[in-house]
Amino acid sequence: MAVLNIVKDGDEILRKKCRPVVQFNERTKRLLDDMKDTLHKANGVGLAAPQVGVLRRVCIIECEPGELIELINPEIIEQSGEQEEVEGCLSVPGRWGITHRPMKVKVRAFDRDGNSFEVEGEGLLARAICHETDHLDGVIFYDKAVRMLSKDEIEESDDE
Ligand code: ZN
Repeated sequence: MAVLNIVKDGDEILRKKCRPVVQFNERTKRLLDDMKDTLHKANGVGLAAPQVGVLRRVCIIECEPGELIELINPEIIEQSGEQEEVEGCLSVPGRWGITHRPMKVKVRAFDRDGNSFEVEGEGLLARAICHETDHLDGVIFYDKAVRMLSKDEIEESDDE
């Protein structure tokens, strides 16, 4: 396992559409394991494969410590409600914005062994699922932000 380099905003790889995983092999498992190490090192909530330079439809989310969700070829199949929250990204350090996301989503994906499953998320998990699946289509959160936070607002929230 290894900690990978996180691609930063401005790199065109973050703007590319990722291709689906077709073979669930050792390479896929290794990518997932390395992404987990990378996410933990960065203290993040989610990470998508293009953020580590791999253009495949793979992302991981860990909203609760120890509850890692691995999503391969994820598709959001249901969504409802709306939430307005502050959002950031490991590829966009130091910048935060307010986004509108669904309050609840249901996603269908494959696990590392190639089995299809569905997971429902609410609140932070719903937001993370939307954020990470957006990365697979080259979309960054600030594309959807209704407003970016100013430097003063970011400093204020750091003091809390
Ligand atoms: Zn992100």
